Amino acid sequence: MSAPDPAIRTTLADANLQLAIYTNTGRFKDNRSKAVSPETLPEYQDLRTRAAEIKQHTLDFLDVYLLQLEAAVNANGGKVIWAQTGEEAADFVLQLAKEKGANVIVKSKSMTSEEIHLNERLIHHELDAVETDLGEYILQLAGQRPYHIVAPAIHMTRHDVADIFEEKLGVAHDTVIENQAMTARRVLREKFLQAGIGITGANFLLADSGAVVIVENEGNARLSHSAPKIHIAIAGIEKLIPRMRDLAVFLDLLGRSASGQPLTSYTSIVSGPRRAGELDGPEEFYIVLLDAGRTKLLADVEKRESLRCIRCAACLNTCPVYRKIGGHNYPWVYSGPIGKVITPQFKGNEKDPWLPFASSLCGACAEVCPVKIDLPGILLKLRHEAKPDPKDTRVFGLWSWLMRRPAMYSLAAKIGLSWLGRQPNGWLNKVPWPANSPSGPLTAWLSERDFPAPPPKPFRELWVERKVKERKK
Ligand code: SF4
Repeated sequence: MSAPDPAIRTTLADANLQLAIYTNTGRFKDNRSKAVSPETLPEYQDLRTRAAEIKQHTLDFLDVYLLQLEAAVNANGGKVIWAQTGEEAADFVLQLAKEKGANVIVKSKSMTSEEIHLNERLIHHELDAVETDLGEYILQLAGQRPYHIVAPAIHMTRHDVADIFEEKLGVAHDTVIENQAMTARRVLREKFLQAGIGITGANFLLADSGAVVIVENEGNARLSHSAPKIHIAIAGIEKLIPRMRDLAVFLDLLGRSASGQPLTSYTSIVSGPRRAGELDGPEEFYIVLLDAGRTKLLADVEKRESLRCIRCAACLNTCPVYRKIGGHNYPWVYSGPIGKVITPQFKGNEKDPWLPFASSLCGACAEVCPVKIDLPGILLKLRHEAKPDPKDTRVFGLWSWLMRRPAMYSLAAKIGLSWLGRQPNGWLNKVPWPANSPSGPLTAWLSERDFPAPPPKPFRELWVERKVKERKK
């Protein structure tokens, strides 16, 4: 089953974009490898096992832990809002903003809010919803969605950013990164002062203490939840872990898996509105718990583990497909291997049936996943569930028929081998038929890569020769 490819071809043909994706994901990948090497973190594999167990246990008893979280949040003076759909979550924010007269809303990076198109909804209702993470802010100005879960503007160069700032903010064209950061800081500081509501995501929710855990490097999330009078954290129900003490396992893994950092610059643990005697913090605190397809996935015992994901993006950085096609060629906000796994499960496998097939199943993603999600295994299950492409069915039907007739198979293989054009370098970079056909069976493959030429003698012949030799001895 093949992907709709004009946009992918554009990405592949853009040398600057290819360089940006490859270099930036490569840097994250290398940093991660060093940060989790046996010399640096000998207990890494034990941590992965523990993290997978904690997450799986929480998912298996999610109903219990969700109610425990709600009770703890209430006891802390906050409130839990249950949202079955993205619309319900956005409606709550919209309603509250109207009630409180909050026209400016600051937001820190949150894939969950991207998932429900929160900004678009708020802006449509004439609210000034502003992203405060630098990468997200650049993308908001550019009118783009995140390219990567952790580094949203990974595909942009400083020259791109200079163009965007010049056009959208009316500042001088400046390609110095520090100056660009200062420009964004100047604009965003004003927004923090004006904002009536601050919205964050949640990296983790702690059931025992009713707290939201937010990790970040820029300090903008900290300002988003502490400066405005109202803090709303929007999180998928799967972000839960049982206890504060479990957090240590995940903090050891998240920064290292994402960027190679032992710990991100800021870790905030927010457990409710400002208490009497406290100097700062919001007056009102809400956690919006989002379902939006998660309980459906939870009911599937075989694929439930997909919900263990802690959005570290290690699987993206290591995936040979993501590193070629980038983030915008995936149909939803979640890209890379985890996008291929959760998009069909959240949105329905029939919507983009090609998605689980857009993988080489090399297994690199599963090797780096800190919570041990069997990403290739789930992709295979999704492939089995997909409605087969009639072309594939015919091809594999013919293959299966041939495989069951050894003599015929051998003859077909001989004809096939003599038919292929063998290059002196040992690779095929074209086939005699359909050499000029835009729709031939190997045309798509050969348009982007070479194909190894089969050996002159097939294994079957070599095996027979060997047996004959052995008998003669
Ligand atoms: S699937 Fe694993 S590696 Fe990929 S983002 Fe989620 S936790 Fe990270």
